[in-house]
Amino acid sequence: MENLVILGSGCAGLTAAIYAARANLNPLVLEGAQPGGQLITTSEVENFPGFPEGVDGFELTQRMRSQAEKFGTRFEFASVESADLSAERKVLLCEGRDIECAALIIATGASPRLMNVPGEKEMYGGKGVSACATCDGAFYRGKEVAVIGGGDSAAEEALFLTRFASKVTLVHRRGELRASTIMARRVQEHPKIDLAWHSVVEEMLAGDDGKARGMRLRDVRDGSTRELPCQGIFLAIGHVPNTAPFAKDLERDGEGYLKQIPGSNVKTKVPGVFVAGDCADPHYRQAITAAGMGCQAAIEAERYLV
Ligand code: NAP
Repeated sequence: MENLVILGSGCAGLTAAIYAARANLNPLVLEGAQPGGQLITTSEVENFPGFPEGVDGFELTQRMRSQAEKFGTRFEFASVESADLSAERKVLLCEGRDIECAALIIATGASPRLMNVPGEKEMYGGKGVSACATCDGAFYRGKEVAVIGGGDSAAEEALFLTRFASKVTLVHRRGELRASTIMARRVQEHPKIDLAWHSVVEEMLAGDDGKARGMRLRDVRDGSTRELPCQGIFLAIGHVPNTAPFAKDLERDGEGYLKQIPGSNVKTKVPGVFVAGDCADPHYRQAITAAGMGCQAAIEAERYLV
């Protein structure tokens, strides 16, 4: 039986691993479907303390991983399909095998939210619809692209895409960005970025080759529609927490975020099961707050185990 299993290898999971390994808890990290978590899809992190020049998201993750390895953390590529947390020995079903553990830190993060409009599913992942500008932006050199959303992610994606695209249209359903003031100003002042305000996507349109050629937008004020030509469509409308395997034993809120017990940031109602990062944080969702929760979860796991 494992002593401590940490699910997820983003900021929260890796910070938990650093603390747990340093406390001799011999943690095993199951890396999940996207090793490194959401940060590896971020071009530059400007607000992580200690990096006044900014740091590449992938590099920051790699540094955390090396630090966790240095203290003896073990890593395995595996994702949890279901879990039984009802007994003292927690059981995780991972791709056909059971892993048992005495304590568990769930740091499974969140996945990009999709729009569920016609055309999206068919073109997602390779045919012009993406949720990661850092991964796919370079394919759109000299082309016109659109980003959907009005938060910090949308602003960041739009700004990043200006490096490649000839034009970036930010499509937002309201007349004001949710993004922080500094990001919103950069977007609004950028000569390559157009803003399509009060616009919702009705359909993503494919060309004869099956690849994206544009979108049909509807103006929510008067119901009028128009076509926006674009060869790349980037979704930045938020994330959905990856918590389905724990629905049986842990409480979740209406959006699927794992709930903590009153008075704790990381304890769940099941003794020995702790949460950290975006799977349990609907409020802040920052790299630094995820790291902070990872630290808290590891300290609580140590108190539980020792
Ligand atoms: P978010 O802040 O929740 O913003 C999601 C955006 O998508 C909102 O503008 C929302 O519109 C829009 N939206 C949601 N569902 C939609 C739908 N079905 N159709 C059309 N539009 C839809 O998410 P986020 O931008 O991913 O940011 C998440 C968290 O990470 C935030 O706390 C953010 O500050 C943080 N973050 C920080 C940085 C940074 O500091 N550099 C970078 C990225 C993310 P409404 O505005 O109308 O609700």
